[in-house]
Amino acid sequence: MKGVIFNILEEMVIEHKGMAVWNDILNQEMNDEGVYTAGESYPDEKLFALVHAVSKHTNLAIEEVLATFGEFLFGKLAARYPVFIEGAADLKTFLKSIDSVIHVEVKKLYNNPNLPSFTYSEPSSDVLVMYYHSPRKLCLLAEGLIRGAASHYETPIQLSHPVCMHQGAPKCELSVRFL
Ligand code: ZN
Repeated sequence: MKGVIFNILEEMVIEHKGMAVWNDILNQEMNDEGVYTAGESYPDEKLFALVHAVSKHTNLAIEEVLATFGEFLFGKLAARYPVFIEGAADLKTFLKSIDSVIHVEVKKLYNNPNLPSFTYSEPSSDVLVMYYHSPRKLCLLAEGLIRGAASHYETPIQLSHPVCMHQGAPKCELSVRFL
C-alpha cells in the first residue's frame, strides 16, 4: 500500500483524536518511526496493523474505522489530486471512470500501486452496481470512498453490499442507488 494512504490515515487520527493519540499508536503498536513517504510502497500488513491500532485506541470497530477512513480519504485525495475528479461532471460518471480513467492516472503517478479492479453493471437508470475485486478485500474502504464521492458531488445515494468477498464470493457487489 502506498505511503500516501498512511499519510492520510495519520491526518485523520490527528484531526479527529489529536496528536497524542497518534503518538500513542506509533509508540505502543508500531515498530517504526511512523514516517511514510507518499510514493513509496509499504507492506499491506503494516496498514492493517495500523487500522487495528486505530480501532483499539479510538474504541471504534475495524469496520467503522475503514468506513470513516474511506470517506475522509476521498476528500483528501480529491484535494491533493483535483485532476482525478475534474473530468467527471457528476457522481455516476465519476464512479464509472474509476477503473478506466482514474486508476490509469494513478498508475502514471505511482509505480505498482496495486489497485483494486472494478467492473460495472447498470440494471436500471438509477442504479449502478460496482463489482469490487482486490486480494486486500478492503471493500469497506471502497464503501467509504463511494460515500465520500457522493458527498463531494452532493448527490444522495443508498449504498448496499449484498455480495461480499468476506463471505466467500469472488467479488463484492456494491450497489449504488441514486436518490
Ligand atoms: Zn465486500
